[in-house]
Amino acid sequence: MIRRAALVLLAIAACGMPGPRGERPPRGERPPRNEPPSQGTEPSYPRVQTGPAIAGTVTFGAIADCQYADQPDAGERRYRAATTKLQEAVAALNKEPLNFTVHLGDFTDKGWASYGTVAPLFGGLQAPGHHLLGNHDFEVPNAVKVEVPERLGIPERYRAFSQNGWRFILLDGNDVSLHAWPDGSDAQITAREFRDRHAPGAPDWNGGLGFIQLLWLDTMLAEADAAGESAVVMCHFPVLPAGQHVLWNASEVLGVLRSHPSVKMYLSGHNHDGDYVEQYGIHFLTLRAMLDTGENAWAMIRATREEIRVDGNGREADRVLSLR
Ligand SMILES: [Zn+2]
Repeated sequence: MIRRAALVLLAIAACGMPGPRGERPPRGERPPRNEPPSQGTEPSYPRVQTGPAIAGTVTFGAIADCQYADQPDAGERRYRAATTKLQEAVAALNKEPLNFTVHLGDFTDKGWASYGTVAPLFGGLQAPGHHLLGNHDFEVPNAVKVEVPERLGIPERYRAFSQNGWRFILLDGNDVSLHAWPDGSDAQITAREFRDRHAPGAPDWNGGLGFIQLLWLDTMLAEADAAGESAVVMCHFPVLPAGQHVLWNASEVLGVLRSHPSVKMYLSGHNHDGDYVEQYGIHFLTLRAMLDTGENAWAMIRATREEIRVDGNGREADRVLSLR
């Protein structure tokens, strides 16, 4: 288990060391020396309570791996049909009084032009729409990789917000990545070292959370604990169940999650078959990919103080998850 003190020491040690973007703060955001980095990277996120006024309840839509591209089907992957499925989901979600809808990454399979097709469809959501960064989202020319978050309308690569007693933490699993940074860049080279150190032999298409984001996650969850909030942590990549799809440093992330009683759910995509396990009082749910098969897959999730209800559509299962 990684304690905050250890994380602070790790983050301080990371300052001044070469590494992937996530292993040291970007230029201008480096915390002052001799102080815990959390004091120099004060988070900013909306604290305004919005959406349906039912205290302690939040309802949101969730979609994983739309992964559109204008290319022929490959096995179960129906790339062009993703537009129809996304339109169906948006139309159904617009009939509900939602707080927001989140797409959990891999919005497109490849190509900058793909965004032009599916972004307007997702933009048809009446509730606020949020995107996480997936590995496929960076399958674009080197010159525009850095522009992907802006193309998805993401103000920060990782961020958090609170609504009705729930804190939603949206992680960047491509913080340390072989896809998200230009070929041959220092960030890509050090990402390979990171992968080989944490998960030798793990697939190139996964990713990891750098020290600074890990520390930020720990700080966000400590705040949620102190405020009596419940937390849902979201990332494109799972951390559990164990398998070939998890974050390279899943054990580090899991150590942080386990140390905070506010954490009720970890929601992910990336594994197109979906998965679920409950451990440490946390529900680890991976949604099935919208892309796969001729049948749609997405969910509407209603979180209360007592339980989380997953209303699965198409291939996504219904679930009632009791909270600790
Ligand atoms: Zn993925």
